[in-house]
Amino acid sequence: MPVLVYAENAGGKFKKSTFEAVSYAKAIADATNTGLTAISIGDVAAADLAALGNYGAEKVLNVANDKLKNFVNQAYASVIAEAAKAEGADIVVLSNSFSGRGLAPRIGVKLQAGVADGAVALPSIEGGKFTVKKTAFSGKAFATVELTSAIKVVSLTPNSYKVVDGGADAAVEDFAVETKESDFKAMIKDIVRSADKVSLPDAEIVVSGGRGLKGPENWGLVEELAELLGAATACSKPVSDAGWRPHSEHVGQTGIAVSPNLYIAIGISGAIQHLAGVSSSKVIVVINKDADAPFFKVADYGIVGDAFEVLPKLIAAVKAY
Ligand code: FAD
Repeated sequence: MPVLVYAENAGGKFKKSTFEAVSYAKAIADATNTGLTAISIGDVAAADLAALGNYGAEKVLNVANDKLKNFVNQAYASVIAEAAKAEGADIVVLSNSFSGRGLAPRIGVKLQAGVADGAVALPSIEGGKFTVKKTAFSGKAFATVELTSAIKVVSLTPNSYKVVDGGADAAVEDFAVETKESDFKAMIKDIVRSADKVSLPDAEIVVSGGRGLKGPENWGLVEELAELLGAATACSKPVSDAGWRPHSEHVGQTGIAVSPNLYIAIGISGAIQHLAGVSSSKVIVVINKDADAPFFKVADYGIVGDAFEVLPKLIAAVKAY
């Protein structure tokens, strides 16, 4: 019974978090002495599909169906569940990305499977027990859960497992699906992507600004630092609510959850709802003029100072490096 991994793409290209999920699924397949099948939905080039073999997939099921060109939660979950049944897979792996967060529970229901969402380490598979360490309470804690169901669904937190490559190309097969009208109650009609920006959920470095930056006119400093570091930009909720930044940059409990190697928070107080989306970052740097700002309690490094004095110096130092 192979492991099945959902290989998510963005605009026809696989993301880093997809390669992490495939590498992670391959390690599970090896630990359970089985093979790895990947499923891709949407318009991805044949060479990119075959290249999933580099990360451990032996076979790639390709679902090229016009109705499934854009992500539709319910319909994608149906397709992945059908593929799991067709392959006889008893473990389904996907990334705990924005779409993965919607898919995992739906796939779980369709397969009557236990779900561990937001895994941060490989499962322990010993003595018939399958336990997974995962984030809990919006990233504020970790939990170790045991999945006792016959079929298991595991979604992997981005940036928590390394990409392992070096394998040979995979065999690509078309996987025909019958779509159900009832799966298309709500659909995304079009997705507009900013071509030259680092994708926030996948970013290894995030530079994030809060209300302490006073207004959208001051975001040049955040963008300049982000560009120098090859980072994505993010913001607190009030900043996107005020229209200073797009909602796609809002991180936290009600926004995107990120887990980069480095999160730089500038002029953000560190409210619990904000921390919920960033606390699994590996290193947190906080710049705030208030030494009592709650964010300093979870910071690895902190600078107490005015952002408008600190940022130009930081930018100059990075440029000189
Ligand atoms: P503020 O709280 O106004 O803090 C600004 C900070 O900037 C202060 O610490 C101040 O000392 C500092 N500062 C001011 N001037 C400067 C300067 N010149 N240089 C340096 N520092 C400076 N928030 C989120 O971010 N994400 C969420 O997902 C989210 N979800 C929520 C869900 C619910 C149900 C609720 C009730 C709230 C939610 N919030 C969320 C809002 C959250 O509670 C906070 O209000 C918000 O995070 C505060 O944003 P902020 O830190 O940018 O602003």
